[in-house]
Amino acid sequence: MALRCWRWWPRPAWLRSRPPPAGSPLSFRQPFSTQELTPQICVVGSGPAGFYTAQHLLKHHPRAHVDIYEKQLVPFGLVRFGVAPDHPEVKNVINTFTQTARSDRCAFRGNVVVGRDVLVPELREAYHAVVLSYGAEDHQALGIPGEELPGVLSARAFVGWYNGLPENQELAPDLSCDTAVILGQGNVALDVARILLMPPEHLEKTDITEAALGVLRQSQVKTVWIVGRRGPLQVAFTIKELREMIQLPGTRPILDPADFLGIQDRIKEAPRPRRRLTELLLRTATEKPGAEGAACQALASRSWGLRFFRSPLQVLPSPDGQRAAGIRLAVTRLEGAGEATRAVTTGDTEDLPCGLVLSSIGYKSRPIDPSVPFDPTLGIIPNTEGRVVDMPGESEQEVWVLSDGGGPEGWCRCSDWEKLDAEEVSRGQGAGKPREKLVDPQAMLRLLGPCA
Ligand SMILES: Cc1cc2nc3c(=O)[nH]c(=O)nc-3n(C[C@H](O)[C@H](O)[C@H](O)COP(=O)(O)OP(=O)(O)OC[C@H]3O[C@@H](n4cnc5c(N)ncnc54)[C@H](O)[C@@H]3O)c2cc1C
Repeated sequence: MALRCWRWWPRPAWLRSRPPPAGSPLSFRQPFSTQELTPQICVVGSGPAGFYTAQHLLKHHPRAHVDIYEKQLVPFGLVRFGVAPDHPEVKNVINTFTQTARSDRCAFRGNVVVGRDVLVPELREAYHAVVLSYGAEDHQALGIPGEELPGVLSARAFVGWYNGLPENQELAPDLSCDTAVILGQGNVALDVARILLMPPEHLEKTDITEAALGVLRQSQVKTVWIVGRRGPLQVAFTIKELREMIQLPGTRPILDPADFLGIQDRIKEAPRPRRRLTELLLRTATEKPGAEGAACQALASRSWGLRFFRSPLQVLPSPDGQRAAGIRLAVTRLEGAGEATRAVTTGDTEDLPCGLVLSSIGYKSRPIDPSVPFDPTLGIIPNTEGRVVDMPGESEQEVWVLSDGGGPEGWCRCSDWEKLDAEEVSRGQGAGKPREKLVDPQAMLRLLGPCA
């Protein structure tokens, strides 16, 4: 694949360099049904959705060309910046993506912010089809007083910090407190709790950034509460992540058996994964550990707990008002059945002292370009089976959106990314890490030198 450098090309030149769409009017399907056309497809975002899309297109059309635009200098989205450093096996998918990127019909174009450096209408002019797969980067705000206090962070930003996302490198989380509260009971919440409580030496051979590891080594956090509005039957994490928490060295779980009253009967009809997950929770909450488990727990210096039926009301300030010192939670009870179960407040409240509040209550997409419709309530681009609806302007080009999974690969063989990749791998070698991530975009650009 030809090396394409996006760092130095002025926008109009490279846009004009795209071949005009062949034939008109075109439908998205036409380029895939004829051998004569060379479909030029543009994918926005190089996470799993973008890469699987590219992979699929290249596989199913022998002439299709796919350009993957990415605002970061490096590809792979949340596989690099989201997946926890102690889960390297999840990142193996990068190998497949790399194969895709190496196709001579695929180009990775990092360091291009679509909606700023190039607009969607410009892409529509230059390509037969545009696929929007730029993820869901906005975190859901808590919408409660005190949310702005130092010590309150988005779990996503915390993850980005230890995973080397450039924009989160200044986060400087203060881990000098004894207790942290995580709001939300999904896998991201468990990732964050695990990283906060894991003995730092267990992270030494991972690709966590050296800076984050340094801060974690100094951490005073001993207790992490993971708080959910609803009950044990509604947790959003999965059994693998729960098991890891239960087995986390040096920690013990704190679960209140009262939260599990009557659960045994209610899970009989639940689908198998939910039943197994709940049974594990139930056993952890109610059964005495065996001799070995009990000995481990007695030695544990750190703990984590799940707090159910609690909804955040207010972040409580320290006496000088300078930072978070606790959180006021509304006690809730459940109304309705099945999927429609809602948590309603009972009027009771509980104050939980803590120096760190991490919110992990969901993410939504953000609009990137005024020409693309956006549903601010759902936080998505409205679409019908992927096809963007009500797209203004000429409709000869197609605009598609993918929110998750879906499909691409790739980057180019002698690409800038491969140079950065090699540099990261070599920097990690001394410490026995798979890589030491580069986190400063300016330094990365300097390392790449002038474009070949
Ligand atoms: C903290 C965290 C941990 C996770 N851990 C796991 C895990 O262990 N296992 C698992 O299976 N799933 C995990 N997930 C879920 C998984 O990461 C996501 O489901 C998946 O990454 C979504 O893929 P995507 O391609 O839609 O989005 P993303 O991976 O977010 O990719 C979107 C890409 O678009 C780029 N982009 C954004 N805006 C623009 C723009 N304007 N111009 C150009 N490019 C742009 C972004 O930089 C990014 O590279 C995790 C998610 C999070 C938040």
